[in-house]
Amino acid sequence: MAERKKRERPAFNKDVAAAIGRHYKNVQTNKPVAYALMSSNPLIEVAYAAGIQPAFPENYACVCAARHVSKEYCGKAETRGYAQDLCSYCKNNLGYLYSADKNPPMGGIGEPDLLLMTSSACTHYFKWWDLLHEIYQKPLIFVNTPRVMEPDAIPDYYVDFAQREIEEAIVEMEKILGTDISHKRLAQTVNQSDQVVQYWQKLLELQKNVPSPLGLSDLTNALFVLIVLAGTREGVELMKKIYHETARLAEEEKGVLTRGEEKHRLLWLNIPFWYNLKLLGYFEDRGCVFPISDYGKYVWGTTRMDGNRSIEGLARKALGGELNTSVDAHMDRILEDIRSYRIDGVIAHSNKSCRVLSVGALDVIEAIRKTLNIPVLILDGDHADERVYSETEVMTRIDTFLDMLG
Ligand code: SF4
Repeated sequence: MAERKKRERPAFNKDVAAAIGRHYKNVQTNKPVAYALMSSNPLIEVAYAAGIQPAFPENYACVCAARHVSKEYCGKAETRGYAQDLCSYCKNNLGYLYSADKNPPMGGIGEPDLLLMTSSACTHYFKWWDLLHEIYQKPLIFVNTPRVMEPDAIPDYYVDFAQREIEEAIVEMEKILGTDISHKRLAQTVNQSDQVVQYWQKLLELQKNVPSPLGLSDLTNALFVLIVLAGTREGVELMKKIYHETARLAEEEKGVLTRGEEKHRLLWLNIPFWYNLKLLGYFEDRGCVFPISDYGKYVWGTTRMDGNRSIEGLARKALGGELNTSVDAHMDRILEDIRSYRIDGVIAHSNKSCRVLSVGALDVIEAIRKTLNIPVLILDGDHADERVYSETEVMTRIDTFLDMLG
């Protein structure tokens, strides 16, 4: 890949990098630590309210991929008999665990005292977390939720069911901690989580501006705040800062590219290649920006919550998100956003080991091509296992696509 042009990135990226450093220090020093699944997990806010330090194996896999270590961890898991096509977040986690690496990225992810999961997002989760339960011999608490086919019309009994699941999970957590979790404190963390979501949603609205104020790598940094710091004061302050800096950029008509440089606005489908985020810079050098991705826009930060009705808000969070909805609902949102974000090309990552986010992808691609007459490039790869990624093949295809876009 040719030498990238140096671009000034928004200042908040440095603050996010510092927050990531603090988070990984916390997971190694704070106690108790809960491994928590990320998507739609209502127990993250409960953990912060209870003084439990959450740690996120999925996020750690992204860190390991960015440091080019996950390929070794994934390989290590495979030598222990885990299938090649198992999710690379899961394989990274197991390989890290079995490697007993003396010098892991960011110092490691600590050891869990309990495990907090939700069923709503991914079929991989049950087996993965069950395995962690077996390995660490620590309590596993999970919230079971039904699949939501129509996100705009969630039946009340779904919400009631999810609420009961969360209430039972809280009782289990209280038994383990030997103390009650304060309702007041939970209301506070839910409100703080809601504020982070509110800033995030406003931030995504700003991305409709031309030029797009942020690029996809900036947005993926902001995602860390949305997910990992959900429910914390630190998260609110940081997301507020990110929003205000972006709003200023939009007002001044500044973007990752200038108005004259921004030739194409692309949509990224599926998870980015965490081991090759510099690829996004290559697109920028060719006049292309990604104002949104489906992964950034529909999986996280989709549910507003009210601390006065904390459990209901958390139940709605558990039921929400792209991973818990139908392909039809997902497709409708994408087509609408392609129009509103003025997208004129799509890059679809055909993700080898995340079949969950790949389900229905070909239908979505066909709808984009046929309904909107917008070109779509499909790139083969994986979110965290770079062993299946071919730089030569990917770059050849991208260059051909961008030449065609003009
Ligand atoms: S398979 Fe996909 S949705 Fe499931 S844990 Fe892996 S990356 Fe997440």
